[in-house]
Amino acid sequence: MKRVKVKELLENGSPGTEVLAKGWVRSKRDSKGVAFIALNDGSIIHNIQIVVDVPSFDEALLRSIGTGACIAVTGTLVESLGKGQRVEIQAKDIILYGGADPETFPLQKKGHTLEFLREIAHLRPRTNTFGAILRLRHAMSFAIHKFFNDKGFVYVHTPIITGSDAEGAGAMFRVTTLDPIKPPLTDDGHVDYKEDFFGKETNLTVSGQLEGELAATALSEVYTFGPTFRAENSNTARHLAEFWMIEPEVAFNELVDNMDLAEEFLKYLIKYALDNCKDDLEFLNNMYDKELLARLHAVLQNPFKRLTYTEGVEILQKSGQKFEYKVDWGTDLQSEHERYLVEKHFMCPVILTDYPREIKAFYMKQSEDGKTVRAMDVLFPGIGEIIGGSQREEDYDKLFKRVTELGMKESDLWWYLDTRKFGTCPHAGFGLGFERLMLFVSGMSNIRDVIPFPRTPKNADF
Ligand code: ATP
Ligand code: MN
Repeated sequence: MKRVKVKELLENGSPGTEVLAKGWVRSKRDSKGVAFIALNDGSIIHNIQIVVDVPSFDEALLRSIGTGACIAVTGTLVESLGKGQRVEIQAKDIILYGGADPETFPLQKKGHTLEFLREIAHLRPRTNTFGAILRLRHAMSFAIHKFFNDKGFVYVHTPIITGSDAEGAGAMFRVTTLDPIKPPLTDDGHVDYKEDFFGKETNLTVSGQLEGELAATALSEVYTFGPTFRAENSNTARHLAEFWMIEPEVAFNELVDNMDLAEEFLKYLIKYALDNCKDDLEFLNNMYDKELLARLHAVLQNPFKRLTYTEGVEILQKSGQKFEYKVDWGTDLQSEHERYLVEKHFMCPVILTDYPREIKAFYMKQSEDGKTVRAMDVLFPGIGEIIGGSQREEDYDKLFKRVTELGMKESDLWWYLDTRKFGTCPHAGFGLGFERLMLFVSGMSNIRDVIPFPRTPKNADF
């Protein structure tokens, strides 16, 4: 017999049919010669109930089937008399694939804290919470590809190992095959990277943008979606050392088009989650964040508020609010400032534009005023910055001048500068942190709980 997944059984299974289900036992209880097993196979947050007539089964077998065990059940699908499910399985035959010793199985009981579950990241997919998170991550990944594919964007795979340290978005992790104890040395005593695998220093990428721009200036509309790595020692609930980023890059787009694309994209993803992940979102709403669904709906209702950094700074300075960090024109906004604008002042997502050039990257388009660049950050409730982007400087001379001013080396960037030398065009793009999106859509409050295996300072155990 062919196995049918629990989701299919619960949603479409017809009573009276013989079925085969396989999965992991969430709980088992006995009552007057009948055992009730809640079986889950990850296809849906709900369990299917298996009803077992105890006397007709081997006692030792039933004893081995406790929470955590993996079993296969054949039986008849019948209408359920109990509340909460349409159908259940009246068991005829049960095979035990693997038991789980109740003395040592860490998920024996329900209601573990998220902190505890982080210590057993290898088993937490077996919980309702992480089942929901993983299905949601999948749905969001799929929706991202669908959104861009439907618009004719090309998915470009940018390198993970990079030989350029010019990306400038953060501290990097070195990639090397040299012996850390006895590296080859040059005559003047430095590590000789000529002897290294690539014959030079290499690192893990912090962003696929620069390579994305190369593709956009040929294919017009592209996006990347890959892992990025930042060795910053920021132990916050919103930073990971390894996270995933989606970076569209579009030829002929200016800043307004870039904002329009970002807003449409975020709303599309949130609507996709509401339309396709109802059960999981309801679970997360009830268990962790009673305002989650309302907040997701609210973001869809209204346009994002758009204003300049300068206007944002004025609002913050006039707010009378006590901030930990002072707000001055020219300094980067902290997440407390971003969240004040979003949660207290405008009560909706905000797009801040035209930041001071000194606090933004070298490639951003310089404005006429000589002080600002055509940058945009999208700020979200509960999160702060979820997207950072800009229109790019397409003028070779201006870009070259900025590169030199910042002490960057032409020899590291010549390939990037070439796009401005040959057939340059206006273009714009942005980066969405996938786990920041997941924080918003799931209502979880710590970024460690929206990625299967979080990498953070002092934590890469498994
Ligand atoms: P932040 O100021 O929040 O540290 P950033 O300005 O350094 O972020 P960008 O370089 O603009 O980040 O990266 C684009 C997007 O990637 C950000 O808007 C955010 O959503 C996400 N992001 C950046 N750093 C991290 C990180 N360490 N962990 C998870 N997501 C991140
Ligand atoms: Mn940013």
